[in-house]
Amino acid sequence: MTNIICDDTKKHYGTPPVRWERVSCNLCGRDDTELYHRERLPYFDIMLDFQIVRCRHCGLVYTNPRLADHNATYLQAGDSNPEVIEAHDRAKAAVFTTALDRIETLLNSRDVAKAGTTPRLLDVGCGSGHFMAAARARGFDVCGIEPASAPADYAARKFNIPVIRKNILDAELPAEGFDVITALDVIEHVSDPQEVLRCCAGWLKPGGIMALRFPSANWQKIKAVVLHRMLARSRAVFAPTIHLYFFSEKTFTDLAQKVGMNVLYTKTTATEPNTDSYLLDYIKVISHLVIRGFDALGGTHLGNLEVYCRKISK
Ligand SMILES: [Zn+2]
Repeated sequence: MTNIICDDTKKHYGTPPVRWERVSCNLCGRDDTELYHRERLPYFDIMLDFQIVRCRHCGLVYTNPRLADHNATYLQAGDSNPEVIEAHDRAKAAVFTTALDRIETLLNSRDVAKAGTTPRLLDVGCGSGHFMAAARARGFDVCGIEPASAPADYAARKFNIPVIRKNILDAELPAEGFDVITALDVIEHVSDPQEVLRCCAGWLKPGGIMALRFPSANWQKIKAVVLHRMLARSRAVFAPTIHLYFFSEKTFTDLAQKVGMNVLYTKTTATEPNTDSYLLDYIKVISHLVIRGFDALGGTHLGNLEVYCRKISK
C-alpha cells in the first residue's frame, strides 16, 4: 500500500515541492509501527524531519513516510558524481575481495563449479563496475544493472563489461540464467525490496548464490545515538532521504525465505572510511576495531551486514 501526500507548507525558492509517500511493511504487509528514530536532514534549501519506524509484528525497520521522489534524488546524486562513486568503490576493495572469497567457497561446494562451465555473475546496482572487474579477474562471466547513466557508462567504457541501464525491476534477463547475483549496498535504496529479491531469485539458477551487503538497523541506531550527541543533529546516519530499509539478520532471513532463498552465512563489516570528514573517518576506524572485538567475543552483529543466500532447489 502506498499513499502520496503533498506537503505545500514546505514551499521554498529553489526547492521542489515535497511529496511524501506512506507505505505498509514490506515484509509482513501490515501497517502498525512504533517510532525507531527521528532524523532531521537538509533537502535542497530546507530542513525535513524524517521518521524511521519499526513494524510491531515482524520487526522490519524502515523510513515512513518517505520521499516519493527518493529514487530521483538518489540517481541524481549518482549521475552527477561518477568520480565519487568510483572513490567509494575503490574504498570497498577489501569488501569485494572477502565477498568473492566467500562466494567461491559456497560455489565450489556445488556441482556448478565442477561442471567445467564459466559461472555467470550478475551485479545488481553495479555502480562504477569495480566489483564486476574483480569478479571477472577470478574467472566469472559478468554483467551488471545500473540505473544511473554516468556510472553505468563509466563501467562499460573502463572495463568493457555489459551494463543494463535500467531499474532492477525493469531489466529483462533470462530466468535461471545466473550462478551468482550480488547486490552490495543496494537493497536499502530500493522501493520494494521483496519484489527486487523475488526478481533476483527468478534470475538465479536453483542452488545459485546471492550475496548482499546493507546497513543493519541496530548498528545505525547505535551510531545515531553516539553521533547525534557528539556532532550536529543534522548529520546523516540513517540517511532517510535515500535509505528506505534497515534490515536485521532476522528480518532479512524472513524476507529471503519468502522469495525461496535460504540464508547460509552472515558476517559484519565496518563502514569503510570515505574521507568526507576526518572525525567521521576516525570514528569509522575505531568502530571497525570495536566490531572486530565484539565479533571475536561472540558473533555480535554490529556493523554492516553481509549476507549469503542460496536459492532453494525445487
Ligand atoms: Zn512487518
